[in-house]
Amino acid sequence: MAPLWPRRLLLLPAALGLGGRRRGSAAALGPPGSGSGARPCSGGGGGVLRHLLLKLRATGPLTVAEYMREALTNPGQGYYTRRGGVGGDFVTAPEVSQLPGELVGLWCLSEWMAAGRPAAMQLVELGPGTGALTDDILRVFKQLASLLSKCDVSIHLVEVSPKLSETQAQMLTGGKVQSNSEDEPAYMKGISKTGIPIYWYRGIQDVPQGYSFYVAHEFLDALPIHKFQRTEKGWREVLVDIDPEAPDQLRFVLSPSSTPATENFIQPEETRDHVEVCPEAGVLIQRLASRIEKDGGAALIADYGHDGTKTDTFRGFRNHKLHDVLKAPGTADLTADVDFSYLRKMAQGKIATLGPIKQREFLKNMGVDLRMQVLLQNSRDSATREQLLHSYDMLMNPKKMGDRFHFFALLPHHRLTPPHKEHNLQSKSPLPPVAGFGELLLK
Ligand code: SAH
Repeated sequence: MAPLWPRRLLLLPAALGLGGRRRGSAAALGPPGSGSGARPCSGGGGGVLRHLLLKLRATGPLTVAEYMREALTNPGQGYYTRRGGVGGDFVTAPEVSQLPGELVGLWCLSEWMAAGRPAAMQLVELGPGTGALTDDILRVFKQLASLLSKCDVSIHLVEVSPKLSETQAQMLTGGKVQSNSEDEPAYMKGISKTGIPIYWYRGIQDVPQGYSFYVAHEFLDALPIHKFQRTEKGWREVLVDIDPEAPDQLRFVLSPSSTPATENFIQPEETRDHVEVCPEAGVLIQRLASRIEKDGGAALIADYGHDGTKTDTFRGFRNHKLHDVLKAPGTADLTADVDFSYLRKMAQGKIATLGPIKQREFLKNMGVDLRMQVLLQNSRDSATREQLLHSYDMLMNPKKMGDRFHFFALLPHHRLTPPHKEHNLQSKSPLPPVAGFGELLLK
């Protein structure tokens, strides 16, 4: 039988007439990662480099995680702290097309319906960038407002960058926001253009508990990693130090002996010679797992990554080109592939996980082709149609984002396995399948 629209998403036809959002033309993706190696580099990183050189002189080498944290989120000079938009150095799916956000919005609605339509729902986005993904999700919620009429919906954004939070406020509320006092968990609040309350936080721990959908699109790859190298003397941690040959430049060195991190993060059965671990991602998954186990909801993580197989994936991007990770910290995006096997392990069996599956498969299962047809039919001129086809190719082509990006979900166990045997006897229908993660057939 030909694959049809997922049963839970029969609500979609109403959403097919959604208005479009104009996008800038999609820029080329940066080349695929090639490890950073241990090349020395030239100076010129301005504030962050100066700050790091002083710190290194005073206290000695830094872990790669400390280096990455400073380069990306240093309060004054970090890459994300200073930037007001994305697009200059890398391009992400929500910036390319409205399709991923719309389909993620439908995924949330589909899961909300499967949970029996709880009376309140929080949408929590981690690292929202320009706010494009949430904007697209909100358009779907507005279009399907009748479905949500009895649901108290609120938006919660976790964003460390003051500049990007301003960009998000502009996109989502038209700039109508107010700052909160320091003792409140949210640092800013506003009302979306569609009338939904929005709150901004510095960390997930500040977001109120409750039935929630957590969405993290290209967020986990920006969290700091530790790097380890197998040597003849055992595992050593890769550190960042001043290059003795050029005192205004940085280089990688190995820790002289094992460190607490090598003891804690390397599994005895590890077969690779080089390993990257992101403990912040682990802590985040543990927090999400506890919340979802307690309050229900789900998390949807979309990123590039692997299942515990890759080695050196740490890389920098600047102006859509690979950039030496140790050069001019604070001026380039630094990123490392997400290790989905580690995320699964950190969920510690508290919740169920689905995926990772390739972006093109997830979007296909969510009905991207049907939505695309409607957008093409509704587009008035050939330039818009060309733009739509170009962005579809970017999202779905296996050589572009199609195979490189993956979707991974966290769900309560009872969503996949009925808690009691009686369920099957009592309920007439089996649990509805989770949209997006399988090729769903209408029988
Ligand atoms: N999700 C967006 C943007 C990805 S870029 C998209 O796909 O287009 C990463 C985002 O995470 C930025 O908004 C950045 O400011 C934010 N970010 C990075 N590190 C963070 C941290 N430690 N805490 C909160 N936000 C962070």
